[in-house]
Amino acid sequence: MIERLRTNPPAPARAVMFDFDGTLALVRAGWMPAMLDMMMETLGPLGEDPVALRAAAEVYVARLTGKDTVHQMNAFAEHVRELGGEARSGAEYRDEFFRRTAESHTSRLRAVESGERSADSLLVPGARGLLEALRERGLLLYLASGTAHEAICREAKLLGIEGYFDGIYGSAPDSFTKSELLAHIVASGVPGEAILTFGDGRVEIEVTKEAGGTTVGVATDEAECLTVDAKKRGWLIDAGADYIVPNLLHADLLIEVAEGRQ
Ligand SMILES: [Mg+2]
Repeated sequence: MIERLRTNPPAPARAVMFDFDGTLALVRAGWMPAMLDMMMETLGPLGEDPVALRAAAEVYVARLTGKDTVHQMNAFAEHVRELGGEARSGAEYRDEFFRRTAESHTSRLRAVESGERSADSLLVPGARGLLEALRERGLLLYLASGTAHEAICREAKLLGIEGYFDGIYGSAPDSFTKSELLAHIVASGVPGEAILTFGDGRVEIEVTKEAGGTTVGVATDEAECLTVDAKKRGWLIDAGADYIVPNLLHADLLIEVAEGRQ
């Protein structure tokens, strides 16, 4: 239900930062295998062991999860060059990836828009109940993502969770990155140890730990979201996660974490 990695309970939270994709929303579920498939089209012909090449790519893709996609693609371009290949720019690879995956994301969102599927079917189980419970307790809630700001705002609205947040920050020149948002929260008077972060990526876990906060790693097995994904769990623990959960269904336990009782 909830795996605790830390030995003592955390300080009570005053502000909570949520990552979007894979933490609250399933709009982009399946993005990692799709990204690795695309990378392998270029990497495959440059080496002899496709399994090892894919595993090597997975390391930097996982390490940079939570940041703007261009960082993963810059690492990929570097990998291509190391293998003697001719690489395009990280931005070009990112655009190509977005082009390829846009259709599945758009059709999922359209199905919600038309009422063919429920908004909750594109949320990690328990997401809405947890946001509601945290909000009721008067905590400040923030949404932060490495995905384009415009897309995050549109999708949060469509999924009916926009109203829970005191601020939404996707990737844009005038927005905050996750570490900038944490600095902003601290500057507004909330001490780092009173910040709780929920995330499925290494980046949000690492920057929150650096700020002195508490972290819940959402290691959900997309898209069913019933059990812990062993690989994600390993990456999140490695990044310093204090707790690991398979989904957000146990709001009572997660509220205990937020209140410093778990
Ligand atoms: Mg994520």
